[in-house]
Amino acid sequence: MSDQLQVLNPATEEVVATVPAASPADVDAAVVRATKAQAVWSALAPGERARLLRRFAVTVDDHLEELARLEVREAGHTLGNARWEAGNVRDLLDYAAGGVERLTGRQIPVAGGLNVTIHEPLGVVAVIAPWNFPMPIAAWGTAPALAAGNAVLLKPAETTPLTALRLAELALEAGLPEGLFQVLPGHGPVTGDALVTHPGVAKIVFTGSTAVGKQILAKGSAQLKRVTLELGGKSPNIVFADADLEAAAAAAPLSFLDNSGQDCCARTRILVQRSVHDRFLELLAPAIEAVTVGDPADERTQMGPLISRAQLDRVRSYVDPKAPGIRGTAPEGPGFWYPPTVLTGVDPAARVAVEEVFGPVAVVLPFDDEADAVRLANATDYGLSGSLWTRDVGRALRVSQAVRAGNLSVNSHSSVRYWTPFGGFKQSGIGRELGPDALTAFTETKNVFISTEGPAQ
Ligand code: NAD
Repeated sequence: MSDQLQVLNPATEEVVATVPAASPADVDAAVVRATKAQAVWSALAPGERARLLRRFAVTVDDHLEELARLEVREAGHTLGNARWEAGNVRDLLDYAAGGVERLTGRQIPVAGGLNVTIHEPLGVVAVIAPWNFPMPIAAWGTAPALAAGNAVLLKPAETTPLTALRLAELALEAGLPEGLFQVLPGHGPVTGDALVTHPGVAKIVFTGSTAVGKQILAKGSAQLKRVTLELGGKSPNIVFADADLEAAAAAAPLSFLDNSGQDCCARTRILVQRSVHDRFLELLAPAIEAVTVGDPADERTQMGPLISRAQLDRVRSYVDPKAPGIRGTAPEGPGFWYPPTVLTGVDPAARVAVEEVFGPVAVVLPFDDEADAVRLANATDYGLSGSLWTRDVGRALRVSQAVRAGNLSVNSHSSVRYWTPFGGFKQSGIGRELGPDALTAFTETKNVFISTEGPAQ
């Protein structure tokens, strides 16, 4: 494996940068530095930690456009999305800073003394991030971990280390202690594995594929490390006959094409009640064809390229070019382009209907009634997200309760807010990120009993 990572612009295939990959020895040294920094950091007054994290948020805000444009170049994200992503990092740092002084324990009534609980930091946390949302996902782990008094070692994906490296520079500029937040670019099986197996790392926050997540869980639990996993998805978008079909059809394209479909929450299984199936497709076709695919740096572009040639080959392997469906347009190369694609008449057991494609490809599957919709929605090993469209409030509540997924939206596809919890059921993950409990997930709860009866005679 090369000791250099080459970062390509996915829209042009030009080399953006070459970055050294961290070796296991680099990981050892980083853990030593992080352990020292964590001791200093966790001893600071909570208000001081909060102030420094807020300053980090302001520093990110001052560099928002620069970070967004870097994300466009290294990940091929549209400029609009990349600006949202950089803003998400800022907001999350700000939100986590607000939690520092509120990380309170409890006083629990006991006889003969006082019983209190204390949330103590874990120590050094490793955040292993994927390439599909390099900045936000790095921050989802990093911001609450720092706020709770931990040090963070972030390993970005091989293809997208640049925004992470820039964030580490901005942290220093904002005044965070040296060594507290370090970025270790590198290969998963080398740098990532060194973090997962390092005895000085107390917790792993992994976001990525279910296959790698399972390996990390096995290795991490061999040392009883704390592990949070945010994994893949194959989320349903359920359209009932009583829905506002125009609204559902208008919203469906970007629910699976956003970020070129490289989104763990992508609603790639469009389940449509049989009685409105044909009408829905008539409405969906022009909406798909209207999606603008092209230069991600152009403000009008809605969908950019895929991340890499490997990802393009993977997406192609799922789709028979002659299969019936709706197709949008995409530029010719250079760049890793694939057109918006909706396949119809698909066998629900086909690979494309069951596996996470991670590209701009969805399938439409008809259903007969509410029970059939729930059965199809749950007929997957994943359980990350989902949407349902209906005007019937009772049905919205029943189906929301019956679908086994961590993040559901009714008459909407919105899943992610930094102040609400996010995570998966089943093989989509373990644990939750974001939301009001995010900091607690980076602590151990200690129970202390203080006797009021003096030493035993
Ligand atoms: P991936 O599993 O290939 O890699 C993710 C990260 O793990 C990378 O940094 C990689 O270098 C590292 N890694 C790989 N092998 C490793 C190993 N043996 N030990 C330690 N680290 C290792 O995933 P990807 O292709 O980068 O990302 C796409 C996947 O991420 C999709 O399945 C997607 O659904 C999932 N995802 C999930 C969420 C969520 O919140 N649930 C969010 C975004 C992406």
